[in-house]
Amino acid sequence: MSPDVLTLQNLEAWSRAGASLAVLGHPIEHSISPAMHNAALRHLAATRPELGSWQYFRFDVEPASLPEALERLHQKGFRGLNLTVPHKILALDCVASIDEAARPCGAVNTLLWQERGWRGFNTDGYGLAAGIRDTLHCELAGAKIVLLGAGGAARGAAVECVQRGCASLTIINRSRESLDALLALVRSIGGAVAIRGVVAAEMTPEITAGALVINATSAGLRSTDAMPLNLAQVNRPAAVFDMIYNPPRTALLREADRLGIPAANGLSMLVHQGAKALEIWTAAPAHVTAPLMDAAARAALR
Ligand code: NDP
Repeated sequence: MSPDVLTLQNLEAWSRAGASLAVLGHPIEHSISPAMHNAALRHLAATRPELGSWQYFRFDVEPASLPEALERLHQKGFRGLNLTVPHKILALDCVASIDEAARPCGAVNTLLWQERGWRGFNTDGYGLAAGIRDTLHCELAGAKIVLLGAGGAARGAAVECVQRGCASLTIINRSRESLDALLALVRSIGGAVAIRGVVAAEMTPEITAGALVINATSAGLRSTDAMPLNLAQVNRPAAVFDMIYNPPRTALLREADRLGIPAANGLSMLVHQGAKALEIWTAAPAHVTAPLMDAAARAALR
């Protein structure tokens, strides 16, 4: 493991003068969040010297250790945390309070230190909407959405699509259990949006034409992964957005390229959700730090 991947053992002798931030995940070795956040903090420190001593770390934390990790990081005074796979849903049971906008998602990706415990936020939906706007020039409002997946990231995405007034939402997932849980969640806030769910293996090729396809599954993280949806089998999508950014071109995106469908990976989403988290911790506007994080992320991936 890389020496800058920390574990709970590193907390035993932890003492820093400046504020500490961190991302927790398992695995975490691939995370470029420290590069993004530390670059933005260095830039902000030029006009806000108090941020000069802030630093962002990454911790490998297994799911069973998450409650203990969150308690110890709170005791050590970490100012803020990001949560990635597989902690976003698990953390709900460990927060003292939850931001109103994050409540319907049933998942949190950003925690803010408060005296009586962590306050949970979800910036994934914001990151998704901003990323899709930047890369595909599409708005979620009024769009026919086909969402692949029903895990933590799909929850934030589905809630954002519904809250922004998408025209329809079709959720396709491998297993029925998590699909049904997500359908129940979005139907409780769905209002007039037409919502339906399909188990991937039972899918028939009757998907609405001109949909924006969003991949929120982890299928594609490994180069051997099959596509979570065969684009050639469905009505011509308007565009494809894959939340995965490493590898930069998954099989799904390569297929979209081959079919001439506009397609983008999830790097822009990563950047915008990160910039929004930093805004929660420092009050630095997300639109100011996003370009800095984007440059740092691209450099880290190179
Ligand atoms: P979860 O583990 O919570 O959910 C994984 C989802 O992927 C589930 O719906 C699961 O289906 C499905 N899935 C897993 N493997 C396969 C497969 N081989 N074929 C089809 N479906 C599969 O993960 P998250 O929701 O937190 O993350 C999902 C993806 O989104 C990850 O790749 C992550 O890196 C990416 N992401 C990117 C972000 C960004 O900023 N760009 C932000 C957040 C996430 P089932 O329910 O059947 O198990």
